[in-house]
Amino acid sequence: MGKSNGLRVILFPLPLQGCINPMIQLAKILHSRGFSITVIHTRFNAPKASSHPLFTFFEIPDGLSETEATTHDVTLLLMLLNRNCESPFRDCLTKLLQSVDSETEQEKQRITCLIDDSGWVFTQPLAKSLNLPRLVLNTYKVSFFRNHFVLPKLRREMYLALQDSKQDDPAEEFPPLRNKDLLQILDVETEVLDSYSKMILETTKASSGIIFVSSCEELDQDSLSQAREDFKVPIFTIGPSHSYFPGSSSSLFTPDETCIPWLDKQEDKSVIYVSFGSISTISESELVEISWGLGNSDQPFLWVVRVDSVVHGKECVETFPKEFIEKLNERGKIVTWTPQQEVLKHRAIGGFLTHNGWNSTVESVSEGVPMICLPFQWDQLLNARFVSEVWMVGIHLEGRIERNEIERAITRLFLETEGEAIRERMELLKEKVGRSVKQNGDRCGGLGSDIG
Ligand code: UDP
Repeated sequence: MGKSNGLRVILFPLPLQGCINPMIQLAKILHSRGFSITVIHTRFNAPKASSHPLFTFFEIPDGLSETEATTHDVTLLLMLLNRNCESPFRDCLTKLLQSVDSETEQEKQRITCLIDDSGWVFTQPLAKSLNLPRLVLNTYKVSFFRNHFVLPKLRREMYLALQDSKQDDPAEEFPPLRNKDLLQILDVETEVLDSYSKMILETTKASSGIIFVSSCEELDQDSLSQAREDFKVPIFTIGPSHSYFPGSSSSLFTPDETCIPWLDKQEDKSVIYVSFGSISTISESELVEISWGLGNSDQPFLWVVRVDSVVHGKECVETFPKEFIEKLNERGKIVTWTPQQEVLKHRAIGGFLTHNGWNSTVESVSEGVPMICLPFQWDQLLNARFVSEVWMVGIHLEGRIERNEIERAITRLFLETEGEAIRERMELLKEKVGRSVKQNGDRCGGLGSDIG
């Protein structure tokens, strides 16, 4: 810890892997700048307190039943959490504020603010009533966060016209999406989602500021200044947050460390790493197509297949084609979870077949690993277009989960001149983003001084 500044920050992450990682990284950055850290968290997907002995953790009940806790419907999960956590969170926060009042002068630390995810929508009025500034942590790409509030209007006004439009044309209302991407984003159950996103917009605008982790001028120049105009609150960007404290883990799953010695045995830039993050699922037949796409390509591969990766599947092991497993030998390794940042940093990794979650995308850029994009939903579709069409550091599969398409994309990336050009552009982007982290390092987007 830097010298203590006598200030304490309360953090309240959404209990999803893609939100916990950036929140814990932010905690480490603030701690290194002298802040004491208290994390309030749900019982569901609780971060491992023992991995962070310098922080104080408080667990609150979240009221989720066993079935609710295993749902893959993220909107439903977030609605339930918002409904169930309001009262226990209020009690916990109020107690914390009162306990500070009763501390002796010597041990007194002022609680300076609450930082929580934009997806917690009850915390803004609560913080206001307690006279506590609230900063909103945001784990989306800036352009997605700012533009996604227009989706309900687009759904009302454009949905039918979009169905008749040329699907591969650019969606002018939401660049750089194509019409088919926008249609896919709009094609979800709406009522709950629309009113939820309206609440997110209102509570973000009423907050004391927004922190975009994993965003920086180099990756978000298209939208940062517009976001400042839209929200009219201070905006902080801290760049790829994992690069400040590399190797530190806030994983909810246990990583299979055997993948590192396996990677050590592979040639430089030869391995295709495959992972679709912590939530996305695939069907049994898609798993079979991906298996053969990887198996038929000549590249070694490291593939993350989470225990719950396959929807309504049998045990994952039974789902793989028998001949594929027999052929696997040393050329492929399948694990249920990896230390991903360490994997992407490894000299043997030459490409990343990814769902383009924002964390995975930025982690890949930070390590200069070109991507094959297979987005499934929501912001992943936008991130994938940035990767393949704006920065041109990846190949888009256009949703075709077919063995020949996958094999062909791997060949293009690893063996053809197109792949070389992609690799060169990725190297340049990595350097640009790396420079920005270095320059920004001391300031952290002004965050440390501003929240004091
Ligand atoms: N991750 C990991 N090991 C894995 C797969 C993913 O540590 O085997 C981490 C990854 O490094 C990233 C996070 O899980 O930080 C996934 O976040 P992302 O935004 O990419 O996707 P989400 O899980 O939210 O869809």
